Amino acid sequence: MFLAAGIALGLLSAPAPKNVIFFVMDGGGYNQYLAASMANDRLGKEVFQGPGWMNSSVSSYCLQMTKEPKKTGEQDPEIVYDPAKAWNEKDNYKWLQSTPTDSGASASAYSTGNKTYKHSLCTSDFGEAQKNINDLYRAAGKSVGVVTSVEWSDATPAAMIAHNLNRDNRVEVSREMVEKSGASVIMGACHPWYDGHGRRREKLGDASWIGEREYLMDGSKAWQDIRIIESREDFEALAKGKLDMMGRSRIVGTVRADAGLQIERDSKDWNKDGKIDGEDRKVAPLNGDPFIKTVPSLGTMALGALNVLSKNEKGFFLMVEGGAVDHAGHYNWGARMVEEAQDFFRAIEAVDGWVKRNGGYENNLIVITSDHETGCVYGPESDKIPFQPIQSAGKGKLPKFRFNSGGHTNVLIPVYAKGPGAEMLKTLSTKRDPVRGTYMDNTDVHRLVASAAK
Ligand SMILES: [Zn+2]
Repeated sequence: MFLAAGIALGLLSAPAPKNVIFFVMDGGGYNQYLAASMANDRLGKEVFQGPGWMNSSVSSYCLQMTKEPKKTGEQDPEIVYDPAKAWNEKDNYKWLQSTPTDSGASASAYSTGNKTYKHSLCTSDFGEAQKNINDLYRAAGKSVGVVTSVEWSDATPAAMIAHNLNRDNRVEVSREMVEKSGASVIMGACHPWYDGHGRRREKLGDASWIGEREYLMDGSKAWQDIRIIESREDFEALAKGKLDMMGRSRIVGTVRADAGLQIERDSKDWNKDGKIDGEDRKVAPLNGDPFIKTVPSLGTMALGALNVLSKNEKGFFLMVEGGAVDHAGHYNWGARMVEEAQDFFRAIEAVDGWVKRNGGYENNLIVITSDHETGCVYGPESDKIPFQPIQSAGKGKLPKFRFNSGGHTNVLIPVYAKGPGAEMLKTLSTKRDPVRGTYMDNTDVHRLVASAAK
C-alpha cells in the first residue's frame, strides 16, 4: 500500500530538476563541436565533457519535407535517420543533404515532443497549435526565457514560446512572443536601426523581426510590464544584477546589430581581390577580424536572463541558442562558424558557473544539443575521402575541414546533459548507429527539457 502510493507520487523515480537550461547550437553537428574544441585546444576536455556529464546522439529528421501541413500526420519513411544511408560511402552525402530538417521542425520537436513539417512552429501536421515549452512551464507556475545570438524571433527561440503555421510569418511570431507568450526574457539580435557591424543606420532597416513595433526600438520607453534594453552596458548591468528594472518584471533585449552578435561584422580583404564581401569571410583566419565592441557576448546575455528568471522561486526554463553557427555554415564561412561555436562554449561555461553558485546540479539540469548540422562539414579532402575526419591545426588556429554543402544535413548530432534526469540520455537512447553508438530521437529530448514543468 505504502509502496504503491510511493510509486504513484513518483517518490521512487529520479527527482525532477527545479530549473532547466537548454543550449542549442543551431547547425552544430559533431564536427562543429570538434572544430571549436580543437581551436580551444580542449579536445574532450570542454566543461560539458567533465565529471557528471552524460552524452549521447540525437536523430533530427522531421515528419515530412513540405513546408506546410499535409494533414496526414504520417511520417515520410524516406527521411527517417538510417545509418546505412547516412554512412554510405558511395552516396557522396546525397541522402544526408536531401532529407534534413529545419530549425522550425526540430525546435518544435524539442518544445512539443512531436515531429512536424518544416517551417512549423509548434503546429501539427493537421495545422493545430501544440502545447509547447512555454505552455507547459507557465502552467506549472514557472518562468520561461529565450536568448539567442541571432534574431530573437528566429525559429529556435520562437518554437519555445510561440505557435505559428510558418516561421516566416515574422511579424505575427514576434508579436506572439512579446505580447502573448508571457515569457519573462526574450533576447537576441537584429535591431533595425543598426547594421551588421553595429553602426547606426541612416534609415530604418527591416523591423519585421521585432514585429514592426516601435516601442521595441527605443530603450527609453517601456511597454506594459516589459523592460526594454539594447546597449551592451545594459546587458552587462543585467548580468551583474545591477540593471534598474524600472518596476517591470519581464525583459526584451534587442542587441544593436543586424542579423547576429558578431556574425556580420566587417571583414578584411582576405582574398586580396580589391573588394570586401562574403568571399573574404570564406578564407578568413580564426579571430582575424576585430570584434564589435558595442554588443554583449552570448554568455553575458545568458547570465542576465538567469538573473531575471531565478526571481521565480518555483523555478524556470531558459533556452540559449548559438544561432549563427548555422548562418556561417550556410555561407561556408569557416572561421566565423568556429568563432560562434567558441562563443557558445563560453556561454556554457558562464552558465555552469552560475549553476554551481545557485543550487548546483541537484536543482538544475543543463541539456546541450543542436537542431541539425549545417554545411556537411568533414575533413579537408572529404570531397574525395568520404567522412574524412577534420584535423586540428593547433590552439587558436582554424582546424582543417571543408564544407560539402551550403545547406542542412540529416546526420546524428551530439547531446550532453548534467543534473537530475540526465541519465535519460542513456535510458532513452535505444537505437544504434555503427559510428556514433546508441542514439535517441529529438522528440525524446523533449522529455528532458520539459522535465521541470511540474
Ligand atoms: Zn539553417
